[in-house]
Amino acid sequence: MLNLTGKNALVTGIANNRSIAWGIAQQLHKAGANIGVTYLPDDKGRLEKKVAELVEPLQPSLFVPCNVQDEAQVQAAFEAVKGKWGKLDILIHCLAFANKDDLTGSFVNTSREGFATALEISAYSLLKLCAGAKPLMTEGGSVVTLTYLGGVKVIPNYNVMGIAKAALEMNVRYLASELGPQNIRVNAISAGPIRTLASSAVGGILDMIHHVETVAPLRRTVTQTEVGNTAAFLCSDLASGITGQILYVDAGYEIMGMS
Ligand code: NAD
Repeated sequence: MLNLTGKNALVTGIANNRSIAWGIAQQLHKAGANIGVTYLPDDKGRLEKKVAELVEPLQPSLFVPCNVQDEAQVQAAFEAVKGKWGKLDILIHCLAFANKDDLTGSFVNTSREGFATALEISAYSLLKLCAGAKPLMTEGGSVVTLTYLGGVKVIPNYNVMGIAKAALEMNVRYLASELGPQNIRVNAISAGPIRTLASSAVGGILDMIHHVETVAPLRRTVTQTEVGNTAAFLCSDLASGITGQILYVDAGYEIMGMS
């Protein structure tokens, strides 16, 4: 049975009730995990308030700011985990960012700054979070990140985010190899298109969803809950032999060779 009772799970990337991270946090909580949430702080504290209200039903025992571009905040988040929980079992990396201009225009004109920002926030951050989590995963652990088909195949408008996802997926393999001897498993879920804040920044997201609904074997796209259930599985003992994998949760779209 899928049981995460007694497991401490730190979930990054909740912005609102459409966030994939919100779907994951709910399923981890349902499976019995003790939830900690990080949020991206803004000047006016609006996101903090919104996320705090949203996650309240899960009674998170940790609620900390964590902008992954800010080394001090990342460090403070893991110090909070250490102080409050002592050990960490589950880390959910569910965040990404690219400048909107780089997700609609010409790929060849991607700016140096835009390229670096997308790679730093969307891919390098997994390394930083794993570095913070490693010493706290004293009884082994599970790390799950979120990727997309655009990191493997060309998807219109995905552009620099495709490069970031390719880097993220390779990060998963290198991290799985390095952290495996400590019984820390690292996997990625490659989710089908879901309408969220981040995906709405990619030009033509509704067309992408419609295309998947037409072509995918299940004739639909997936929900945050389905991705959440898969994340809960990957974090559980049921997946104890799985690491370094990219698991497609996309209603089967990835297998199709011709639409
Ligand atoms: P979302 O907008 O709800 O989540 C993105 C999150 O990234 C937000 O919570 C935002 O606060 C956070 N974030 C951005 N910059 C940050 C920073 N510097 N520090 C900390 N957090 C930061 O959108 P989502 O679709 O739920 O995205 C979550 C993950 O799922 C992303 O990695 C995305 O690429 C991936 N994904 C999404 C889809 C989709 O169709 N929605 C499909 C496959 C993979």
